Parts: sequence; structure tokens; C-alpha cells
Amino acid sequence: MTEVLSAPVDERQERLTRISHWIGGESTLGESGRTGPVYNPATGRQTAEVDLASAEEVGRAVAVARAAFPAWRAMSISRRSELLFRVRQLLDTHREDVARHLTAEHGKVLSDALGEVARGLEVVEFACGVPTLLKGGFTEQASTGIDVYSIRQPLGVVAGITPFNFPAMVPIWMFAPALACGNTFVLKPSEKDPSASVYMAELLKEAGVPDGVFNVVHGDKVAVDAILEHPDIAAVSFVGSTPIARYVYETGTRHGKRVQALGGAKNHMIVLPDADIDMAADAAVSAAYGSAGERCMAISMVVAVGDAGDPLVEAIKERLPKIKVGDGLDPESEMGPLVTREHRDKVAGYIERGRAEGATVVADGRESAPDGDGFFLGVSLLDDVRPDMECYRDEIFGPVLGVTRVDTYDEALRLVNENPYGNGTAIFTRDGGVARQFQFDVEVGMVGINVPIPVPVAYYSFGGWKASLFGDTHIYGPEGINFYTRGKVVTSRWPDPATSKVDLGFPQTR
Ligand code: NAD
Repeated sequence: MTEVLSAPVDERQERLTRISHWIGGESTLGESGRTGPVYNPATGRQTAEVDLASAEEVGRAVAVARAAFPAWRAMSISRRSELLFRVRQLLDTHREDVARHLTAEHGKVLSDALGEVARGLEVVEFACGVPTLLKGGFTEQASTGIDVYSIRQPLGVVAGITPFNFPAMVPIWMFAPALACGNTFVLKPSEKDPSASVYMAELLKEAGVPDGVFNVVHGDKVAVDAILEHPDIAAVSFVGSTPIARYVYETGTRHGKRVQALGGAKNHMIVLPDADIDMAADAAVSAAYGSAGERCMAISMVVAVGDAGDPLVEAIKERLPKIKVGDGLDPESEMGPLVTREHRDKVAGYIERGRAEGATVVADGRESAPDGDGFFLGVSLLDDVRPDMECYRDEIFGPVLGVTRVDTYDEALRLVNENPYGNGTAIFTRDGGVARQFQFDVEVGMVGINVPIPVPVAYYSFGGWKASLFGDTHIYGPEGINFYTRGKVVTSRWPDPATSKVDLGFPQTR
């Protein structure tokens, strides 16, 4: 057991724990001499130090993963599937422990954290189906006496680099399908909330996943660069902000790797005049402020079309005082703090600058934030936001919802399509024909129809378009299986059995 896990998961503990790497099936103390602080965002206090890996330490993890690859790859698919079923069982049994790690370091309320684990579990369940997922194709008698068949094989050592906002779910999106396909894995989680990764590594070991198959190195740019440049890493999955996604994609592919890099977002929710306004307001509130807006699928802009504007803003406004902001471990809390003080201050800055640029501040989260040293910000609503404003252009990644008013569906659609991001979007209407037209027209990877956060279920794949994805493969689901395998096609011919030296009783000519 690592020190952080043998200690009680209690955000109020005073002593600093040390969060170390997980290499070769055991907790491995960092040797770089560099560490980073980990905070409990609800109290503002530092709770841990996380080791930050050097390039050599990353190299050690890769060497261990490489050594583990031949046996893992050779293990029967049904045995790998069985191990994943056990991982699923342990994650399910310990879902509250995982969730508590998330709340303690990320700040999200426990119910959100449990939801995160549940969505991750769905991807493990999908990966348990690997015997079916890896089935190839077969063509008998492609030519006379010739059969052709396709198989998919693992890549080798693959790496995942993950963001702070889903410290359990996003790593699972990567390692569950990657391991199922027979790859070994090196995870570099966010250094802001690294405990959940180590905890999950322990569960994988307990499930019987062999040492070295799953490794965790903590770190910052030094570790990321070491991963991107390492010749023994075949593929890199990245989820994070757009500038880093672009960098990871360009650097990784330059070093000959397969890379999928999911970036940031600015998700618009269009509300047409015929929409159910209460339904749309409920959706906007939960999608904008859930997890304090720190979700890549959060709604950050509502585009109100025609007469929808006034009643919608009014309906959202009247819901805001009911959102209880507080410590994520308090069952009463519906929204927790932001991840760091710096991020909270950055998000708060958009409110004032939005006002200066002409937006109407309907609710100012700085006024409703709970007292204390936690990184809290209340919910904010900015009306009359225009596309030239900073609060429209930037991904704020906090509990600040903007409303833009337009006259027509076409104008609303143009806003979405001209936006550089294309992660998620939603339309609220009672008109099926318009909704279908929107689905046809919109240049975004994930679309909701009266559903504000259209995260695909585990047996579809997740991914955006434009600056929200670098590479061509979405994550998890069928595309995840493709990403973590490469195809091989075998063309085979066997000597005519009639020519066999053994008398098999075949006729001489057929
Ligand atoms: P981030 O880009 O700052 O960090 C992501 C990862 O990259 C971390 O592991 C971090 O250590 C590493 N990193 C940070 N700076 C780096 C640098 N200069 N060089 C190399 N590596 C670096 O993102 P974040 O703040 O942790 O997460 C929030 C962002 O992630 C938001 O933009 C959000 O939209 C995005 N996100 C996207 C998706 C998606 O599916 N598209 C999902 C979740 C989060």
C-alpha cells in the first residue's frame, strides 16, 4: 500500500502525504528531487506532495512495460477479459473510495465523483467484451484454394496523458481498452489530482493484472516530453487543453507515434422559441454548473433564438439561488470549489471583463462564494454576450454561463459552426424536423437533442471535431479498439490434400 492510500481518505488530515509513482506493480519513490503540491480545494490547504518524474524515471516505467508486453500479449483473450471483469468488480466495490479521492483533490461533490466512476465503469464493461471486439474477418475461397483473413494485434507499450477534471474516468477511457487489446500501459495523470490513478493501479494489481502491465508516472512537461520522445512507446492518448493537445499531437507524431489528442471546448446550447423553457433551463443549469463547469462537455454558451431569450434567462436566473455551493463531502453541496486558487481567480476575472465589454451580469459568483480559504466561486450568469467578447471566445472552464441572443436558427447555427472548437453541442426544440436538420448541419463531434451533455455511451466513441481533437480517432468504443490495435491481413493457401503423402482417402481429382 502506498502511504497515501494507507492513510485515511479524509480531506481534513493535516499531515502531508507523498504520492509516488507506480512502476512494475509497486509504489516507487520518485528520485528526481522534484515534487508538486496537491491541495484540497475545499479547504485551500495542501494535503500532499506528488513526485514529478524525470525522463529517466519515465524510461524505467517504459522498460518495465516493455518487458511485461510479450506475456500479456500472449495471454488468451478470454483470460484478459476475465481479469477485466475482476477489475470491474473491484472498481464497483470500491467506487466510493475512488470517489473520495476525486473529491479530496479535485473538489467535485461526491455525487458527481460517483457519477464519474460509474461512467468509467461502463468503459471497463465495454472492454470486457474484447473477445467479440477483436474478432476479425474471414473470406473463404477468395481465389481458388486461397483464404484471406484479418486480425488485429496490440501495438506494444502505449501511454496516456490525462487532465485534472476527470482523474478516474479519463484514465479508464484509455487503459481499459488498451489493456484489453493486449497492450501494456504507462499513465501520466494530472499532477493536480494524482491519487485516484495510484489507487486504481492497486485495484488492478489486486484483480490479478500482472506487474508491469499498468504503470503510473506522475509529472509535468518533463514527463510528457519523455513520453512523446521515447522510442519504445508506440501510441499516445491525450486529453487536455487545446494548446497542449496540439503540442502533444505534433511532437508525438513527429516521433513516429500514433496519437489521439482530445482538446478543449466551448459548447453551445441552442434554445429555439418552441422549446420547453423549463426543461431547457434545468438542462442549462446542470450542464453549466455541474462539477463547477470544469467539464469538457459543460455548456458554456446558451444561444437563445428569438422570443426564447427573456423567459429562458428568467428561468435560469430563478434556479441559481437554489444551487448550494460548498465542500464536496457535504451531502448538501451541489457544486464544489474549483481545482486551484489560480484557476478560480482566472475564472472570476472573466466576470468583470465581461461586464466591461458590455455583457449584463445577471448573477456574479464572486458575491455568492462561500467564505473561507477554499477555492470557491459561486455561479455566474452573463447575458447579452457577443462573439467578440473575451468571455465568449475563451474556454472559461468554470461556473460562468453566457447567453447570446440571436434572431434566427441560421444565425445560431453559424455561431456554432464558426467556433474553432467542436466538442459538444445541443439543441432544444419540440420540432423533430429542425432537430434533424441541426444534426445534419452542425460541425461538432457530439450532438444532443434536448440533451445538454451528449457524452456517448461506452459502445460508441467519444470525440470532438476541429480544435477539440487532433488526430482522426475518437476515444473508447469501437474507435478506441482500432486505435490500440493494428490490422494484419493473412492470405493463405494450403497444398492440395490430394497430394498429401499420407493417404487421407481424398479422391485424386475433384
Ligand atoms: P492541461 O492541458 O493543462 O493538462 C493536461 C495534461 O497535460 C496534464 O497531464 C498536464 O500535466 C499536461 N501538461 C500541462 N501543461 C503541459 C505542457 N506545457 N507540456 C506538456 N504537458 C503539459 O489540461 P487540464 O487543465 O488538466 O484539463 C482541462 C482541459 O482539458 C480543458 O481544456 C478541457 O476542455 C480539456 N478536456 C477535454 C476533454 C475532451 O474529451 N475533449 C476531456 C476532459 C478535459
